[in-house]
Amino acid sequence: MKGAVLYGERDIRFEDRPDPTITKPTDAILRLSATCICGSDLWPYRGIQAIAQPTPMGHEYCGIVEEVGKEVKSIKRGQFVVGSFATSDNTCAICRHGYQSSCVHREFMSAAQSPYLRVPLADGTLVATSDLPTKDLIPSLLATSDVLGTGWFAADAANVKPGSSVAVVGDGAVGLLGVLSAKQMGAERIIAMSRHASRQKLAREFGATDIVSERGDEGVARIKQLTKGIGADSVLECVGTQESMMQAIQSIRPGGYVGYVGVPHGVSLNLETMFYSHVHLHGGPAPVRRYLPELIKLVLAGKINPGKVFDLILPLDQVAEGYRAMDERRAIKTLLRTNEA
Ligand SMILES: [Zn+2]
Repeated sequence: MKGAVLYGERDIRFEDRPDPTITKPTDAILRLSATCICGSDLWPYRGIQAIAQPTPMGHEYCGIVEEVGKEVKSIKRGQFVVGSFATSDNTCAICRHGYQSSCVHREFMSAAQSPYLRVPLADGTLVATSDLPTKDLIPSLLATSDVLGTGWFAADAANVKPGSSVAVVGDGAVGLLGVLSAKQMGAERIIAMSRHASRQKLAREFGATDIVSERGDEGVARIKQLTKGIGADSVLECVGTQESMMQAIQSIRPGGYVGYVGVPHGVSLNLETMFYSHVHLHGGPAPVRRYLPELIKLVLAGKINPGKVFDLILPLDQVAEGYRAMDERRAIKTLLRTNEA
C-alpha cells in the first residue's frame, strides 16, 4: 500500500509502505473509510517538533475491520469502528478513572494516513457501531476520533455546565469543535476568539454567541465586558503557545477553569500569577476513548455535525497538498479520501 511519510520540514511524501499485519493477538487491521490531517501534525511538518527518522503520519481514523488477532473478543471482522489516537486496554486502573489516553499500555497511533491500519489493543481502543453508517456520516464519525473528542475534553476539563460563560482560544478545528461541545453541554454564552471570517461563521453555526477578534489585553478586556466584568467561567485553550495560554488564563474569572488541549510548545507559567488568579488548570492528551460511545451516538442521531470542520477533501494521494493548505491556513482541516469514501 501507499501512505504518508514525513521526511523533514515541509517534506511529506506519499510512498510505498508495507501492508500492516497482525503482530500481536490483541491487534486489529482496519480498511480505513477516511482519514485526515490534524493540526498537531503541523508541528513536525513545520519543523518545530523534530523527527529522528522518516515518520509515517496520521492518527485519526475510522473504517471496517478486516482482520482481528486471536485474543480479540468484542471487535469483529466486518464491523465499522472508530478509535482514539491513543490506544488503551480500557481495563487498567487509569482507564477505569477515565484517562484512557494515559493507559498503562498506551501507544500513540501514527501511520493512519494510509488505506490500511494496524490498531493495537483493539477491544479497548475501538468502538463499533451496530450498523454500517451511510457515507454522508463518515466525516462526522471520523471527527470523533480526535478533533471532536479533544474539543469535548477541553470543554469537560474546563467544567462547562448548563448556564456557563465560555471563551474559546483558538479557531482551528479543535477550537471550533470546542464551541460545539460547550453548546452541547448547555453553555449560555460562548465567545469564540477568531479573526477569520470563514472560521467565525462556522463558530456561529456551532453555537458561538459572540466573536472576539482582539487579542492580548484588548481581547481580555472584551471578554470581561461580555462576562459581567469578571471573566469567563470556563476557557478552552486550543492552540498551545505562550500567547494562547496567557490569553486563556487572563480571560478566566477568579475560580474559573481552563481546559487546555493545544500541545504546549515553549510555554512556561509563572506560579505567582497562577496563585493570585485562582485558576483551575486541567488538560493533556484527550481521553477520547471515554467520550467515543456518546459522541458516536450524537452523530448517528443527527444531533451534531462535527464533520463540517473538513473544508477541504482530497484523495489520499494528494496528502502533500492537504498539509500545505492547512499550513498556509487555506483550509481548516483536510479530509483524505481512501478508495472507500
Ligand atoms: Zn488502561
